[in-house]
Amino acid sequence: MVITRFAPSPTGRFHVGVARTALFSYLWAKKNSGKFILRIDDTDKERSKKEYEEEIKEGLKFLGIEWDFEFRQSERIEIYQKIAFQLIKDGYAYKCYCTPEELERYREEALRKKISPKYPGICRNKKQEVDEAKPFAIRFRVPEEEFEVEFEDIVMGKIKVKTVDIEDFTLLRSDRTPTYNLASCVDDADFKITHIIRGADHISNTPKQILLFKVLGHIPQFAHIPLVLPDEGKGKISKRAEKEISEIYISELKKDGFLKEAIVNHLARLGWAYGDKEIFSIDELVKLFDIKDINRSPARYNFDKLYWLNSEWIRILDDREIVQRLKDFMNIQDEPKVLSIIPQVKVRVKTLKEMAEMIKPIFGITMYDEEGKEKFLKNEKAKKVLEEIVVELEKIKIESENARAEFDKMMKNIAEKYGEKVVFVAQVMRMAIYGKLVSPPLFDVIKVIGKENVIERINSAIKLIEHQNQK
Ligand code: GLU
Repeated sequence: MVITRFAPSPTGRFHVGVARTALFSYLWAKKNSGKFILRIDDTDKERSKKEYEEEIKEGLKFLGIEWDFEFRQSERIEIYQKIAFQLIKDGYAYKCYCTPEELERYREEALRKKISPKYPGICRNKKQEVDEAKPFAIRFRVPEEEFEVEFEDIVMGKIKVKTVDIEDFTLLRSDRTPTYNLASCVDDADFKITHIIRGADHISNTPKQILLFKVLGHIPQFAHIPLVLPDEGKGKISKRAEKEISEIYISELKKDGFLKEAIVNHLARLGWAYGDKEIFSIDELVKLFDIKDINRSPARYNFDKLYWLNSEWIRILDDREIVQRLKDFMNIQDEPKVLSIIPQVKVRVKTLKEMAEMIKPIFGITMYDEEGKEKFLKNEKAKKVLEEIVVELEKIKIESENARAEFDKMMKNIAEKYGEKVVFVAQVMRMAIYGKLVSPPLFDVIKVIGKENVIERINSAIKLIEHQNQK
């Protein structure tokens, strides 16, 4: 059975780079009807924070990445310690009494002599039962014979490193805390992880880990996925594009009105493709994803693409579902009313947040757009146009079959009468009944708000113009 794990360190916020690693591990497990484990790598007590762990879990849940099992490394410290000492007994590790100052001295000396600054193995052949009171670390004993540690990375291909180039790495620090290499390998071996899918920044750790895995009796397969590069920002979304990948947080994308479907779709496409297909639901991804198809070269984040995917997904989702999702962005008391305008709004926006902004005025104008007020709710002409609209609108039976055509004709006639283009008349009316320069089509707005209310709003706008003109 395929078993994968996602092993975040709760030392920072949940950003898109990490989320993609989680997604790929999840997809591979699900595709193979396997298990997906969430492991919290919280052995660094100083830097690990509960709030980051929460943010990671919230983010995963929001994206629909569900795990079968979870645990924290901090709960398993004794296990790592026991194994480190056992490795000494079995001859695979040794106690190292070198102090940090000594280690620094060796390093400087090596750099001066222009040789590899790896640990020179001072304590390797020391007798092991020496002074227990003196602090010691436990180091892995890299095999003496010279050979190449070799592995076939599913994404990166064959990788080889000579044992002479691998240092006797630390397993347990002198304060008895495990290193990442020890804790990670022990867990991956204990939980029989079949595929380690993680960022390419861990390639350099892998030869060491393979040596350790051999001793622990379980060697997983590896798929190191390339970095995600920041958006080059050629598109319109330049403000966002300036951000580093580690600064694009899932929780913030959610707050900005991106749908989980679009975020997941976009993450999946960072370094993975399936022909030229662009739109994937998570279920489709489970079916079509294959780690072998992950590209070796770095992918680039692309906000324009994310916005595009988001507007596509807004169109794909059921209108009722959209209304539910909108609840995070606006207070919805009258669901049927909101539902009735969704078809008009969903084709005009890119995010849920924008969508909420476009819907809110249905329930009342809280503030007129300043620029719009300045341009369209100012002079005598605007006032005349609005008065004319009231008179003409009274005559139209909104529910009748040709009401929309009558409305359009009315707008045209008024425009002609005042020597203006229809857009001018429409913008004056839009500002009066919606308070904004953008809205769903005016006729649809009238249908949703009701003619009475529309006329009331127009009269308020007329008063506003009169009031301004008196000043
Ligand atoms: N906690 C490590 C990280 O976040 C996990 C690396 C791994 O997957 O082995 O980089």
